[in-house]
Amino acid sequence: MQVTKEALNLVWLKRDLRTQDHLPLAEAEKAGIPYLVVFVFEPSLLAYPDCAERHLRFQMQSLHDMQNKWEAIGRKPVLFYGEVLAVFDWICKHFNIKQVFSYQESGIEKTFQRDLLLAKFFKENGVLWREFQRNGVVRGIQNRQQWDQKWHGYMAEPLVQNSYQASLIPVESQQLAYKHPFPIPESILKLKEHSSALMQAGGEDMAWQYFNGFLTERYSGYQTHISKPMLSRKSCSRLSPFIAWGNLSIRQVYQTTKKIQLQVHNKRALQAFLTRVKWHDHFVQKFEQCCTYEYKPINKAFEALAASNSQEKLLAWKHGNTGIPLVDANMRALIHTGWINFRMRALLVSFLTHHLDIDWRLGVYHMALQFLDYEPGIHYTQFQMQAGTTGVNILRVYNPVKNAMEHDADGAFIRKWVPEIATLPNNLLFQPWQMTAIESTMYQVELGKTYPIPIIQLQGKNKDMVTKIYAIKKSAEAQNEGKIIVSKLVRNRKKK
Ligand SMILES: Cc1cc2nc3c(=O)[nH]c(=O)nc-3n(C[C@H](O)[C@H](O)[C@H](O)COP(=O)(O)OP(=O)(O)OC[C@H]3O[C@@H](n4cnc5c(N)ncnc54)[C@H](O)[C@@H]3O)c2cc1C
Repeated sequence: MQVTKEALNLVWLKRDLRTQDHLPLAEAEKAGIPYLVVFVFEPSLLAYPDCAERHLRFQMQSLHDMQNKWEAIGRKPVLFYGEVLAVFDWICKHFNIKQVFSYQESGIEKTFQRDLLLAKFFKENGVLWREFQRNGVVRGIQNRQQWDQKWHGYMAEPLVQNSYQASLIPVESQQLAYKHPFPIPESILKLKEHSSALMQAGGEDMAWQYFNGFLTERYSGYQTHISKPMLSRKSCSRLSPFIAWGNLSIRQVYQTTKKIQLQVHNKRALQAFLTRVKWHDHFVQKFEQCCTYEYKPINKAFEALAASNSQEKLLAWKHGNTGIPLVDANMRALIHTGWINFRMRALLVSFLTHHLDIDWRLGVYHMALQFLDYEPGIHYTQFQMQAGTTGVNILRVYNPVKNAMEHDADGAFIRKWVPEIATLPNNLLFQPWQMTAIESTMYQVELGKTYPIPIIQLQGKNKDMVTKIYAIKKSAEAQNEGKIIVSKLVRNRKKK
């Protein structure tokens, strides 16, 4: 392929798959020279244990949606399947690239290391890489002084009103770029077509449908139902995958909600929602400053903490076959739909780490793979909080029977996801091991045959367990001279 001499810029899309409130795209338009929009599926990241087909499907659907929005002017994102260094090397050899615009990525260490190499590559090749702040997450800060103020300041700034000129589409170069030697495998291409009806589909249009539905109607039950495994599916916003993959920016969510909040009478529900929207950035900010949370306990003391790590129990947990109905219902719902509410996520982690005595690292990728809204910055920090390895948060052990009684009182959630025990009355549904032989015959449920015998004894365990876990953790801390030692920051992504 010939080298084209036309001066071009690039916009590199990552977790920012939208066409509005998009600063890199706006800056590319402002720069006034034609630009290509690129997205790279990186094989090494696809092979990483946190990447699932459902994530790729959401990305494909989102990219397809962007392309539809640009159809009238003929802009198409150019998709690549290759390592970014090789892809950008090819692009720079065949096109006269001046600037690359992208958002900063507060990703796992692997993407951070990649970015360091890429920055070097761009510098050596005379390409200016301009990275912009993603949501309210600030790069290069050492502490949280004035972070709140900065966050509110950023949220109050006007949304970027993107507009697109056909004259900035390098028609010939776009066609040439499509002939690149990094073709997308058919297995990924077909994902945009195929979607499970149980799983949320990606794209800006979908995101706004969910958001509008929440703000006009669904929000009213937000606080009352937030912990209920069944009702929260409707009363929570369900915006998390759209935010995680950037179909919506946090600022769009914040400003739109603020406007609506003035008009509704249940202002508190939307305030509670906005608090959590801010948590999004709060957690990503933590990870931005320390991405080792993916694999190292936040409090170093817990590195020494031994767990029994039964493979059999781990597998039962992963497949939703523990014999504890609420645990199994949650895992199965998560596997099939990609979403469960906050309390139920916490309960699954608590059960894995506290009840089953399994190291959090053995379950952390399994849940990342299931979450359609997988966001490293929230996932690893929340996982460690629930596993109790931060040393600074209150240790919470969730009792699956008590939680079922309180939050799935009519048993609808368990009956939906654990149909093998649906015939049981509620008192037995939440703890089928209490069935007598005659009840087993009556309800046609036989533990060990139709539904697993519980893999651990729960009764009376919760209080003892909390005491035991505290004792173990205290001794782990004592090994570090009684101090709570938070892992040091290992990187500081200073502005280049
Ligand atoms: C172990 C564990 C892992 C988690 N992993 C993820 C993850 O990978 N991605 C993710 O988006 N959320 C994660 N969460 C947080 C939370 O459970 C989800 O954000 C929430 O359930 C998403 O549903 P929603 O969009 O209806 O939330 P809503 O309650 O409607 O909240 C609106 C938005 O606020 C943010 N938010 C809500 N709760 C939290 C929270 N506790 N912490 C940080 N941000 C929050 C999300 O962006 C969410 O979309 C995790 C929680 C736990 C306990």
